[in-house]
Amino acid sequence: MSTQYEVVEENYKRILSNVNEARIRSGRSDEHIEIMAVTKTVAPEIINHAVSACGIRTLGENRVQEYLSKKDSYLPASVHFIGQLQTNKVKYIIDSVDMIQSLDSIKLAAEINKHAARVGKVQDVLAEVNIAGEEAKGGFSPDELTENLYRISEFPNIRVMGLMTVPPAAGSEKFLCRMQELYIDISDKKIDNINMSFLSMGMSGDYELAVKYGSNIVRIGSALFGARVYR
Ligand SMILES: *Cc1c(COP(=O)(O)O)cnc(C)c1O
Repeated sequence: MSTQYEVVEENYKRILSNVNEARIRSGRSDEHIEIMAVTKTVAPEIINHAVSACGIRTLGENRVQEYLSKKDSYLPASVHFIGQLQTNKVKYIIDSVDMIQSLDSIKLAAEINKHAARVGKVQDVLAEVNIAGEEAKGGFSPDELTENLYRISEFPNIRVMGLMTVPPAAGSEKFLCRMQELYIDISDKKIDNINMSFLSMGMSGDYELAVKYGSNIVRIGSALFGARVYR
């Protein structure tokens, strides 16, 4: 019987090889694709094993409380916040996250800018796009993305590094394709202070497809750590 640690290593090897194959198939052999480990509900010992044994370098955090209770146990890694972020929680995470991928409103941008200025940093962010216009999800609508990026570009303590999306599980290919078009479109506009270096999309169920449509950060939870057990 494999231990939980061995299972994570086996899962990682499979994911890495799938990502590499998808990358080569889509003619992107020379591009780096970051495999982020999404940590929600996973114990720090297991997360640390993914860092030390698999070489995971980026952790994805969804929940402020859970992150704060676990972060001091983590081995050194780059932390990206990927969950819906309430404005009143920004102050708790601002000094320890490398990227906030879930920037979904101008109000949140203003709050991130304020706290980033307070701690003396320029906060890297990705603008989250609600690509399918789903009621229950956060993110800028594709139609209003450009004008919102212009507004965000005015905040001196925020640096937009790209786009992030969580497409609907069903029919995700169409939306991944639209995200790629949007990403290229925004890149071509060359907006001051707006970089299009990262396209974060693809989860356990669709990461190979996401790579096909240009993703360079895939966010993997259950395919790496196993099904989530909520306590
Ligand atoms: C949970 C989560 C993931 C990972 O989901 P899996 O399907 O378990 O890989 C990726 N991105 C976000 C924003 C998430 O909340």
